[in-house]
Amino acid sequence: MRYAVVSDVHSNIDSLDTVFAMLRDDDALLCLGDIVGYGPNPNECVEKIRARATATVLGNHDVAAIDNFGLAYFNPAAREAMKWTQSVLSAENLAWLDSLGYEFRMPDFLLVHGAPVNYFEYILDKPAAARAFAATDAPIIFIGHTHIAEVYTLRPDGSIEHAHLQQGGEVQLEEGSRYLINVGSVGQPRDLNPRASFGLYDSTARTVTITRFDYPIARVQEKIASAHLPDALARRLLVGR
Ligand code: ZN
Repeated sequence: MRYAVVSDVHSNIDSLDTVFAMLRDDDALLCLGDIVGYGPNPNECVEKIRARATATVLGNHDVAAIDNFGLAYFNPAAREAMKWTQSVLSAENLAWLDSLGYEFRMPDFLLVHGAPVNYFEYILDKPAAARAFAATDAPIIFIGHTHIAEVYTLRPDGSIEHAHLQQGGEVQLEEGSRYLINVGSVGQPRDLNPRASFGLYDSTARTVTITRFDYPIARVQEKIASAHLPDALARRLLVGR
């Protein structure tokens, strides 16, 4: 079974369409949240994910769209984009977001936006990764939220290894080890590589592959300008931060 794992699409339909073009018809799709926020196509992104995803969990921007959760702590550009998002999201798409949960568990993996239990915690170092491993018994934990593609591996001896996946790469899953895999962001990468990111988990081959890919950034920037969204949201796509 192959599962495509996408996160932090952030209303970037041009990048999401590029991912979909790389998928096989029989690939399952898992979404780690933050479908909306920042970008110019929230309805299109929600509709695509709704139609295709096997499982989707809530991100903090999705919850903000529903009920203003955390909006006071958003930076000004994020807040302005969220107000715009709320003004254009259809009632049907909002209701679908409101129907989602914070986690999705299968025997071999767990989906959460930021971290197990503390769903919107940012995992940025080994101590945070250690807390995440302790909070669940899932062999593989898929996360997004930081928009940084990377992997933490908990070895049988209790040690934790870390590797960036800024240029993509394949993780070979070994028996007895556990994995915390950040698939990076489809819609707004922040690990200094403007190429977008998604994961592909092959449960038969026991691999997770992170693919970095080009998408039409200029087209998204034009749409951000047309929607009168903050210019900083367009500029950051080009530098990947
Ligand atoms: Zn995000």
